[in-house]
Amino acid sequence: MEAKKISFDIAGKVRMGGDAPVSVQTMCNTSTDDIEASVQQCREMAKAGADIIRLTTQGLKQVESLKKIKERLRAEGIDTPLVADIHFLADAAIAAAQVADKVRINPGNFAKEHNVACEKFSHLIEICKKNGTAIRIGLNHGSLGERITNLYGNTPLAMKEAVMEWLKMCIEHHFFSVAVSLKASNTVVMVEAYRLLYDAMRNELGYIFPLHLGVTEAGNGDEGRIKSAVGIGTLLGEGIGDTIRVSLTEDPVNEIPAGKAIVRAIQDGYRSGSGRSTVEASDWNDFIIKASCLWGPALLDKSIDTIDLIGSTIAGNPLSPEESEHFSNMLLQACRRRFTKPEYIACPGCGRTLYDLQSTFEEVKRRTSHLVGVKIAVMGCVVNGPGEMADADYGYVGEGRGHVSLYRGREVVMRYVPQEEAIDKLLEMIEADKSMPGGPGGADRSRS
Ligand code: SF4
Repeated sequence: MEAKKISFDIAGKVRMGGDAPVSVQTMCNTSTDDIEASVQQCREMAKAGADIIRLTTQGLKQVESLKKIKERLRAEGIDTPLVADIHFLADAAIAAAQVADKVRINPGNFAKEHNVACEKFSHLIEICKKNGTAIRIGLNHGSLGERITNLYGNTPLAMKEAVMEWLKMCIEHHFFSVAVSLKASNTVVMVEAYRLLYDAMRNELGYIFPLHLGVTEAGNGDEGRIKSAVGIGTLLGEGIGDTIRVSLTEDPVNEIPAGKAIVRAIQDGYRSGSGRSTVEASDWNDFIIKASCLWGPALLDKSIDTIDLIGSTIAGNPLSPEESEHFSNMLLQACRRRFTKPEYIACPGCGRTLYDLQSTFEEVKRRTSHLVGVKIAVMGCVVNGPGEMADADYGYVGEGRGHVSLYRGREVVMRYVPQEEAIDKLLEMIEADKSMPGGPGGADRSRS
């Protein structure tokens, strides 16, 4: 029997799944309690063409703020669906389902006890049914629950299995307004997890729920765009994926043109096996996205080891040798095939971020650019940051009030370091580790 493709409307405005066009979404990095700033950022996102906007919703207070933001936007005629982003507080999800058009929950932190999580999720589904609210089951590689990692390890298989449990609960409750994401900052892990889930939905569930694609903590600039285009573009090129978010540690409004460019590149045939062998781009950003969608899949799957940029053009001109080398290096690293610089894992920031993440990330990059192959995470908050750093060798995690925690892998090494000293301390720690067997970055490069 052929699997049924699930599709649904969000707030009667955006159709998701089935044959609906791929939607492009983003997330505010304002404090949700700052109504004015959040409304203004939503206005800019809507103007840039965002199909869906997500806002951090830490607790019941932020649910009230979200309600006010929604009222203000609707009064202005901005009807972009709003999604409440929930971690750790199932009751906030239940309250938000009466306000937001969609609620994102993270199975890894929805509730501590599995039976409590199942009970609360049943309640959430009932509220969503009553209010016409959709749900995203948004799992991240870095925040898999202990019960699942004990069973399957920290693997794409574990990600797939974790989500399948929740989808089965949705089916039992006859609730189908559900999308799923399985994000990772490692493109290899991300692509494998989505492929596994897609096959399992088709073969085991008999229902193909809409998939929300994203490479999480992708960083910024060329790096963030290339990683995102590799992961998202590979899957869209295979017909997997219904809605996307390009997570950038930049002004979130920039995520919209980047996302739309990926969707356009796939539509224009920049994908594996399309017969295309060169890229014709209008500008640099157009080039890196099209070229990543075209060659990323074969590099990820190891069916090619290098790329040939001869014949490709930007605004009708061939690439300079420097541009070719720069792009090839970035693409090979994004596909985890060759490391020529540090690997940065940086969250995009959100309403939980308590410091200037964008400029700090730039400074960390500038000071650590010599540490080839070392994986360095820069995260906006201590609530989710340490869990979401996934396989980083070192982490720089904002504590708020001008202080930072420094991590070696998952272990916190220094707490509450004044921000002005934190990069020096991070470098000292990495230098000291260099003299240890299997020093920084060495232990793990082959694994990726
Ligand atoms: S890690 Fe970054 S994006 Fe995630 S909740 Fe914290 S500040 Fe927000």
